[in-house]
Amino acid sequence: MPTSRVQCPHLDLQLEPSPYATEAGFEWQSLSRRLAAATKSGRRAPSAGSRRKPERNGSPQSIIHESALSYPAPLVLPNDDIACDPNCPPQSFRSWLYEKARNKLTEDRRTLYVAAVPEITSSMAFMRDWLQPDTASGRSSGGGLKQKPPSPSCEDIISYLGTFYRGLPLKPFPQRLRFIPWDERRAKKPNIHSKYVGLATRDSCTRIRVRSSPDGVFKGQLNLGDILDAAIEMLPGDAYSLLLLIDHDMYEGEDDDFCCGRAYGGSRVAVVSSSRYHSILDEQVNIEYSHMWPASHCKSYVNGLCTVDRPKEQSEKSSTTGAFPLRAAIDAAKDIIVPTSQEGLRALWFSRLARTASHELGHCLGMDHCVYYACNMQGTAGMVEDVRQPPYLCPNCLSKLSYAVACELQGITTREDGYIFRRGIEQL
Ligand SMILES: [Zn+2]
Ligand SMILES: [Zn+2]
Repeated sequence: MPTSRVQCPHLDLQLEPSPYATEAGFEWQSLSRRLAAATKSGRRAPSAGSRRKPERNGSPQSIIHESALSYPAPLVLPNDDIACDPNCPPQSFRSWLYEKARNKLTEDRRTLYVAAVPEITSSMAFMRDWLQPDTASGRSSGGGLKQKPPSPSCEDIISYLGTFYRGLPLKPFPQRLRFIPWDERRAKKPNIHSKYVGLATRDSCTRIRVRSSPDGVFKGQLNLGDILDAAIEMLPGDAYSLLLLIDHDMYEGEDDDFCCGRAYGGSRVAVVSSSRYHSILDEQVNIEYSHMWPASHCKSYVNGLCTVDRPKEQSEKSSTTGAFPLRAAIDAAKDIIVPTSQEGLRALWFSRLARTASHELGHCLGMDHCVYYACNMQGTAGMVEDVRQPPYLCPNCLSKLSYAVACELQGITTREDGYIFRRGIEQL
């Protein structure tokens, strides 16, 4: 299990983008713009103007203002998704609200379905071998490698999502999906070298392309576009969206190494894979447990990563405003952030998959990748970045979810000045 060399006290916290952000070309939006981006009008919230009438303590505006200060910026570390695409257009609440392609929740179409991992039927038993990673070159996955324990359960994922998306009904998909041979017309028995497998429901079967992972970690990897096509086919009539859980490794394009999750938001389907989230692979990708979220906001950790790629003068600008919630999270995680038991490792595996599941369903609700804050809706470029990101939604993304549930589904009206956020929280 990867361990930290010396216990880091996480003395100072990084609430702004890292020193690398400027070099990457990322400019963090001002507080005033961030507040405006969470309102229905798209105008600056009254609380953001220093010369305007100061808001009363406890007013919706002051609550929004204070809460915005508590949310740290995206870290923007070397090789992070946002560092690779620093001009990724922000999606404000208003642009989300008026996005024509967005699917709205309706009375008849509001259930989130989650389908359990497909059963591997007896003729496809070789697919079990595809579940075991080869963690060291030259070492066979079967030889001496500890077998992975059962993956996070569908029930636990549903329970998590039920809390995250409170107000929306969540149900298990009513059928157990199955992997079956794709082409039974051929006499040849399906085997580990098969190019296709079939993903079957009771009355349909979709062809799924297979390859081995280019990095050699998994012998079989499934094409996620094909899996999502299957999901579109099986979307129940009352579904707002359908999330498929997969234990096999997945890829999207020929150039990808792997992909842990993807949503076709417009089609309201998503898929997440547990394969890369197991701690058995953490050492290989250099995950530093002691600086996973929330400790990823430790300033000395952030500066250390920036120094590696940019041995230039570092910004020492530091702000403690709004640091309290993050500090409280770090203190709360202190004794458990580095798992010390099998139970802890299982919880870690679950937490990673659950975070990605909630992220992909966010896309089904029309949310784009977030660039306003460190947020569950940020894009992710790899596993190391994934574990640095938070499980929560920022005020902007929470405004969208609150509005979709409280206003569009439950019919509650809001004002234009950002009251959505406050009202949304009250309702959720
Ligand atoms: Zn630290
Ligand atoms: Zn966000």
